[in-house]
Amino acid sequence: MKHITILGQKLRICYDDSALKKDELGMFDSTGMTIHILECLKGHPLHDSVLLHELVHAALHISGNAHLLGDGVEESLCMSLEYALRPFIKFK
Ligand SMILES: [Zn+2]
Repeated sequence: MKHITILGQKLRICYDDSALKKDELGMFDSTGMTIHILECLKGHPLHDSVLLHELVHAALHISGNAHLLGDGVEESLCMSLEYALRPFIKFK
């Protein structure tokens, strides 16, 4: 299990397919403060995009902004920032 800190909040990164719904590549669990990512994405070119997307969900939640947005607006923001920022971010 890996950890990442965003906005001062420590999150777990789990590669646990059982936490994901069918066709989900990743998800942010705000109750457990955990990002779940499909195990087969480890080392895959899509991995960092999925992680970035879920980190935006986490940042919106931790900052309190997710409560102001509907699910559709939140998802749209996450996708926009994922695509906009992905070329500039490299995860270790
Ligand atoms: Zn999303």
